[in-house]
Amino acid sequence: MTATRVLVLNSGSSSVKYQLLDMRDGSRLATGLVERIGEQSSRLKHTPLTGGGESRERTEPIADHDAALKAVAAELAKDGLGLDSPELAAIGHRVVHGGKHFTEPTVIDDTVLAEIERLIPVAPLHNPANLTGIRTAQALRPDLPQVAVFDTAFHTTMPESAARYAIDVETADRHRIRRYGFHGTSHAYVSRATAELLGKDPSEVNVIVLHLGNGASASAVRGGRCVDTSMGLTPLEGLVMGTRSGDMDPAVIFHLARVGEMSIAEIDTLLNKKSGLIGLCGDNDMREIRRRIDEGDERAQLAFDIYIHRLKKYIGAYYAVLGKVDAIAFTAGVGENAAPVREAAVAGLEQLGLAVDAELNAVRGDGPRLISPAGARVAVAVVPTDEELEIATQTWATAG
Ligand code: AMP
Repeated sequence: MTATRVLVLNSGSSSVKYQLLDMRDGSRLATGLVERIGEQSSRLKHTPLTGGGESRERTEPIADHDAALKAVAAELAKDGLGLDSPELAAIGHRVVHGGKHFTEPTVIDDTVLAEIERLIPVAPLHNPANLTGIRTAQALRPDLPQVAVFDTAFHTTMPESAARYAIDVETADRHRIRRYGFHGTSHAYVSRATAELLGKDPSEVNVIVLHLGNGASASAVRGGRCVDTSMGLTPLEGLVMGTRSGDMDPAVIFHLARVGEMSIAEIDTLLNKKSGLIGLCGDNDMREIRRRIDEGDERAQLAFDIYIHRLKKYIGAYYAVLGKVDAIAFTAGVGENAAPVREAAVAGLEQLGLAVDAELNAVRGDGPRLISPAGARVAVAVVPTDEELEIATQTWATAG
């Protein structure tokens, strides 16, 4: 029997998301999520996607990642998709931080594990969870190739002029401080899919990708290679996000420490978890913010305006970085669904050849689609991202 299945694992500190795909056609066989690992009320939601099976949900204590993966394996086995199946070809892991070192998806061995571990100081929240997921999966299927697909890899083509902060070079190098960028799997997938939508090869087009989810980032992609992106050493830099501030004068931190007498941990939480849209208006869901705006809520309106102002600045900046832009692609939860965000982001940019057609923008759809008026100089597109498919595709290609 030929092995054609790839399991994609995205291990967070207290969660594991997974998808099982058949690489003959990229179809999904099952998908699911384990949340609140380590708590009494852990929840597993499993959805088989073949044979018309229904979603199954359980709430029970799941002590650690090992128990979580075993529970996932048991659910998959009920659908005849067990992880012991000879049809499973490889396991692909989303790894958040690959530093400068990992420019490609990589088959995991001890050296790779050690390098991911070495990067923990620059990704203290994410890499330890990713490592736990990898080790657990290795214990379950030591015979299978396991591939790390890095969120940073697509951005390793950024020139030094974009990747370096203007701080003392020796200090920066000693502490590995530079702009790494994140959401790379999405930016890679969406920039390629946008070229495809235009009927061109990725090497022929320049694209600005706007990944607007709860986390949000922009990238400038020239001929299929990333030349700049808005997230930096960590995902805190750049756009206004659901709960993160994005760009800010770094002296705000000194001020909060000195005058506000806040600890570094408190400031970290403030800027990563209590800022952005939620800090500005108390909601981080764009649907709720739009609803409040429709009711005349001024705080929600101001949060929206700040969000759009920053987005527009990045569109302008990346237009200048690229010189010539063929397309702007909106993706992720907000980018794919929030027509008012897309409309406002390009409003007034007609001189740059940018506009959206109101009717096309209002249409809901699943696939990649153009929303710019016919004959527009720059295509504006909605391109749904698919990070799991991209991780599976890269894992499949790398595992050989
Ligand atoms: P993601 O991180 O890509 O899953 O995106 C999550 C975010 O997408 C949510 O916080 C919402 O703000 C936003 N979102 C999802 N659906 C819609 C929608 N129909 N309209 C506006 N925003 C949406």
